[in-house]
Amino acid sequence: MERGCEFGMPGQEQLQKEVMDRDLCSSCGICVGLCPYIKTVRDRVKVIYPCGHEDGTCYMVCPKTPTNIGNMDRAVFGREREDQALGLFSGIYYARALTGKPGGAQYGGAASALTGLALREGLISSAVLTGGDIKSPRPVLARDADTVARCAGSKYTGVPSLLELNRAIRDGLTDIGVVGRPCQVVAVRKSQQGNLPGPQYPSSSGIGLVLGLFCFWSLAPELYGFLQLETGGEEIVKMDIPVEGPVAYTRAGKYSWQLEDIRTFIKKSCNTCFDSTSEYADISVGSTEHDPVWNTLIIRTGKGLDIFNLALQKGVIEIREYPPERLPLLRRAALGKKMRVLSLLEKDLGNTGYITLPEKYRRDLETQWGGINQ
Ligand SMILES: Cc1cc2nc3c(=O)[nH]c(=O)nc-3n(C[C@H](O)[C@H](O)[C@H](O)COP(=O)(O)OP(=O)(O)OC[C@H]3O[C@@H](n4cnc5c(N)ncnc54)[C@H](O)[C@@H]3O)c2cc1C
Repeated sequence: MERGCEFGMPGQEQLQKEVMDRDLCSSCGICVGLCPYIKTVRDRVKVIYPCGHEDGTCYMVCPKTPTNIGNMDRAVFGREREDQALGLFSGIYYARALTGKPGGAQYGGAASALTGLALREGLISSAVLTGGDIKSPRPVLARDADTVARCAGSKYTGVPSLLELNRAIRDGLTDIGVVGRPCQVVAVRKSQQGNLPGPQYPSSSGIGLVLGLFCFWSLAPELYGFLQLETGGEEIVKMDIPVEGPVAYTRAGKYSWQLEDIRTFIKKSCNTCFDSTSEYADISVGSTEHDPVWNTLIIRTGKGLDIFNLALQKGVIEIREYPPERLPLLRRAALGKKMRVLSLLEKDLGNTGYITLPEKYRRDLETQWGGINQ
């Protein structure tokens, strides 16, 4: 049981103390709009007035408040994981959009193609996305495929797009789709767990489909000033962060940097994020790390498998075998992140109590890390 359930649910004051004051907020946006006192200032989420309530759903749904990984596995999948690197899944593939790939797609366009398909087929009523451009991204609730296409492409800052989920639920929508970073997927799953007061929370019918992105970290809004200076104010049409270092494309050309040049903008909260592949999504979508026109797709839930099969049947995506020699690389990256996070939480941050791992998970994690890190 999460701490909130066991001892009575803490509220906004505790959220401020444990998460915001420690700069651990990931700007997912799930707490924004639940009450009038939490707002966004650009990409940052702020408490603007103490609500005075001792308990609050804002604390409960935050991805940075205590999260028991075993409980989350059971709540989302009905069972516990064996694979500590990637969590629970039924299939992993290379995939790319065959139809419905927007011009601005980040890689293979699988995220947009699957979202567009789910909308067209009526599997979701709408989709919470991140639109705008790289220097001024914004949360968007898409109701049609054209809007989905306009939201294609990665904006590397922590945009609080889940505020649109709260708004959509308040407006009475159900079967809402979400495309989000791993922290956002955790927030959605926490809010679905059914133990939350308030009519605005998503019950099982609130959420139609959750597509989670791979994400090892996002960047703080100070990045915009850096990009503005570096590109002389030119419009950036695409940005990517391959292993060689960040690149931005303007209509005039390409700018590239070393990772060290932007490291200072990495959000502190991302250093404490345990999940880099959106382990609680229906389907996770990432890069391949070597072929920019394909995505990696991880099929996790039954709902994910259904939309994946439909997309194949309708010719919306094509797939290839995930190269067996690349799986250890992906697993090593995900496990390495978890080991760094545990070490940081335990040694440097004085064990915030934010991630709880069942004893077996902890043992398996160390064994699997030892096995892969030879
Ligand atoms: C902050 C960030 C960090 C990432 N880090 C990695 C990484 O380390 N390794 C890796 O393999 N992949 C990473 N990705 C995922 C990758 O960039 C692609 O989003 C993913 O592979 C899907 O590609 P696509 O061609 O299918 O996307 P598209 O079809 O172009 O769709 C992109 C989708 O991403 C959504 N989106 C854009 N920006 C954001 C944002 N800031 N927050 C939430 N949703 C957003 C859009 O709404 C759209 O639905 C990251 C993405 C983000 C946003």
